[in-house]
Amino acid sequence: MQAKRLTEARKQFPELTNAHSQILQQTLRQLDRAWDDMHKRGFGFPRFKKRYNLRSFVFPQLGKNPVDTDGVKLPKIGKVAWYYSRPMPEGFAVKQARVVRKASGYFVMLTLQLDVSVPDVPFHGHPIGIDVGLEYFLSTSDGVQVKRPRFFGELQRQLKLLQRRLKTKPRGSANEAKLRQKIARLHERIADTRKDWHFKLAHQLCDQGNSIFVEDLDFPIMAKGMLGRHTLDAELEQFVNQILPWVCFQRGVFYGKVDPKGTSQQCPDCGARVSKDLSVRMHRCHECGSVKPRDIAAAQVICTRGQRGIENVCGVEVTGAGVNQSSQLAVKQKA
Ligand SMILES: [Zn+2]
Repeated sequence: MQAKRLTEARKQFPELTNAHSQILQQTLRQLDRAWDDMHKRGFGFPRFKKRYNLRSFVFPQLGKNPVDTDGVKLPKIGKVAWYYSRPMPEGFAVKQARVVRKASGYFVMLTLQLDVSVPDVPFHGHPIGIDVGLEYFLSTSDGVQVKRPRFFGELQRQLKLLQRRLKTKPRGSANEAKLRQKIARLHERIADTRKDWHFKLAHQLCDQGNSIFVEDLDFPIMAKGMLGRHTLDAELEQFVNQILPWVCFQRGVFYGKVDPKGTSQQCPDCGARVSKDLSVRMHRCHECGSVKPRDIAAAQVICTRGQRGIENVCGVEVTGAGVNQSSQLAVKQKA
C-alpha cells in the first residue's frame, strides 16, 4: 500500500525524487519485513536510521547491457566508473545491483542469472564428518583438528587499542572522525581476513574428502544455550551454513547435514552410549575400550550417521547440497 502511495508522496516531498522510485520501494519493503519480524519473530521495534547506518541499497531492475569493463549503468544515477575486479562469467544476465558502502569504499554486488539446471552433487567417494566447536574450530572424522588462527587475537588487540583512544578525542571533532574511520577499516580487515581463512579451510576440507557431513545445528537457539551446549558464534554459522556448502558445490563435493542429537554421547566404534559433560575432553568407551579426543569421536559419529542416512532412506536424514547463493556473486538457477 505504501509503495503505491509513493507517487503521491514524491509530489509532496520533492526531495524523494532524488532517489530512484524502485529503491524507495525496496526500502519500504525492508521496513515491512522489520515490522513483520517484530510481530512474528519477537524482534525489536524498527528504528529510524541515521545517515551512516544505511549501508546498502538495491536496484531490483537494471537497464539493457548494464555492465562493461569501464563501469556499471545504474538507473537515475547513470554510468559509474569502477574497478573491474573479476571477469563476468559468460552467458549470464545481470539482474540486480546492490551498492554497498564499506570503510574502504563503495562496492557493487551483482546478481546474475543463467537458465540452466545444475544437478546436485551425489554422495560419492571418501566421506568425512565434521564437528564444530569452541576448543577447536573444527575436527574431522579422519582425526584432523583445526584451531582458530591466532592472528585474529593480534587484530583484536589493535582494535581495542584504537577504541580506547576514542575516549581521548573530543566528541564531534575531526580527530574523532579520523579515528572512527581507522576503526571501521580495521573492522573490515578483520572480517575480510576471517572470510579468507574460512574459504581456504573449506577448500582444504574438499581436498580431503569427496563427501562432507555436518550437524544440522540450529545456531540461533544454540547461541541462547537452550540445548545446554557450548554457544557457537555467528562466524561459525557462516562457515557451516554458507561458505562450506558453497565451496563444496563448486568443487563437486557432496554436502549433507545429519541429525545432531547426542553426537557427542555415542561411541563411534561400537555405538554404545557414553555420557559425558562438556568438561570431559576425551572419549573413553566402557564397552569396547575405544579412547580418542571427544571432538574427533563426535565427527566420526556424524560421518557414520551421514552414510547410514544415505544407505537407508535417501533424503530423509540427509539434505543434499542445493546451494545457489554465495556472499559476493549470487547465481540463480532454474530447475
Ligand atoms: Zn565403544
